Amino acid sequence: MHTVRQGYPTSENAFCLTPNVTHARSRGTVRLRSIDFRDKPKVDPRYFTDPYDMNIMIQGIRRAREIVAQPAMAEWAGRELFPGTDVQTDEQIADYIRRTHNTVYHPVGTVRMGPDADSPLDPQLRVKGVQGLRVADASVMPKIVAVNPNITTMLIGERCADLIRNS
Ligand SMILES: Cc1cc2nc3c(=O)[nH]c(=O)nc-3n(C[C@H](O)[C@H](O)[C@H](O)COP(=O)(O)OP(=O)(O)OC[C@H]3O[C@@H](n4cnc5c(N)ncnc54)[C@H](O)[C@@H]3O)c2cc1C
Repeated sequence: MHTVRQGYPTSENAFCLTPNVTHARSRGTVRLRSIDFRDKPKVDPRYFTDPYDMNIMIQGIRRAREIVAQPAMAEWAGRELFPGTDVQTDEQIADYIRRTHNTVYHPVGTVRMGPDADSPLDPQLRVKGVQGLRVADASVMPKIVAVNPNITTMLIGERCADLIRNS
């Protein structure tokens, strides 16, 4: 999404492999901007603040190159447009990643369920200390799923319906 903006060459006839940190260790924050509930929250993703995540991305780009270098890809693979073959060291690849990465919009876990005291929801999705209130969306996930989260979110809704029906 950001490569053209950053001055990398492009083509009408190209493909890309996009490494992705599915279990990021960097932790962001969601804070209230003011006491007015109509104000949008302050969201700070704090991407790459845990070095584990950058390492995953660097290894992902190296693995993508290995895949495209296989004989089966020979008739498809042309010139590497980005990062480009002159980008080889970990530092060079990390610089490319910092300038071009983007989110895939999978925020979860802001109201996680769990038996521990710090989880706002119990394992039946009930808000602890509040009568007659459950949460059923991506925010309840204790940890992010490795797949894209939409189907899991829909199943959380189905499960919540069962919990209500059986309660
Ligand atoms: C651009 C983009 C692409 C994505 N692509 C994929 C993909 O390809 N595959 C995949 O699995 N996942 C994808 N996702 C992630 C997926 O869409 C989310 O994980 C999922 O929709 C989360 O579901 P949710 O019910 O928690 O939240 P949402 O789907 O955001 O639902 C929240 C709902 O609450 C409503 N709402 C908000 N405030 C209020 C209020 N005050 N009163 C009443 N209603 C309110 C909103 O209008 C909305 O309908 C994508 C997300 C984005 C943004």
